[in-house]
Amino acid sequence: MNRKKIVAGNWKMNTNLNEALELMNFIQNNSVSSSQVEKILFPPFAFIKSIKDALSIINKIKIGAQNCSEYNFGAYTGEISANMLKSISCDYVLIGHSERRRYFNETSKQFSLKIEQALKADLKIIFCVGENLEQRKSNSHFNIVKTQLNEVLSHVPKDKINKLVLAYEPVWAIGTGETASPLLAQEMHLYLRNVISQIFSEDLAQNISILYGGSCNSQNAKELFDCPDVDGGLIGGASLIGHEFCKIINSF
Ligand code: PEP
Repeated sequence: MNRKKIVAGNWKMNTNLNEALELMNFIQNNSVSSSQVEKILFPPFAFIKSIKDALSIINKIKIGAQNCSEYNFGAYTGEISANMLKSISCDYVLIGHSERRRYFNETSKQFSLKIEQALKADLKIIFCVGENLEQRKSNSHFNIVKTQLNEVLSHVPKDKINKLVLAYEPVWAIGTGETASPLLAQEMHLYLRNVISQIFSEDLAQNISILYGGSCNSQNAKELFDCPDVDGGLIGGASLIGHEFCKIINSF
């Protein structure tokens, strides 16, 4: 088993350039080394290049984009392609976030195309899945995430699965202050690993990192990360507070 521990911060549509650089510097100077935990920041598109250029070569932080286009190039005003991201040395792209599903009506078909573009550009991907409150209450959460995975991952070639990280983000826990209990997170992460094993193989399922996301903070990170199938976290709100985010990284 060769699973990477990862803590990623999704800054969403927050910070200006100076704030973004300050936050990155704080995290760089106050978090454990990248050989222990892979650290990834997802700043707004506009700041990726400046942040990349300002990174120290020691304690390297990986940088990702919060989205990419499903198209390669051309007349798609306002879109940013995976190739463009690669050309500014971006490492990762976030695909399938619940806010993209909910506010921008993005579908599994689009996520598949975006993943295809990202893989062609040699970017790594964090692909997010998760059920909403209604689905959890009606006990359909396992079926929902299985469908979300199957619809997208069945289009990913087996030899590219090592470019993917999964994030389980129950929508009812995102930005609400309500976190999944370690028991509940572990149950779902194990289930996701089984689904991956069915789509690909047991070996690939054991080697893919699965992150938990949803109101993760410095108080609850350790008990979540201690779960055997939780390989780290995708952090929203708490990643905007330098000392909070560093405590989360350092809680492994
Ligand atoms: C997210 O949006 O990916 C997220 C996990 O947000 P938060 O940590 O704020 O719940």
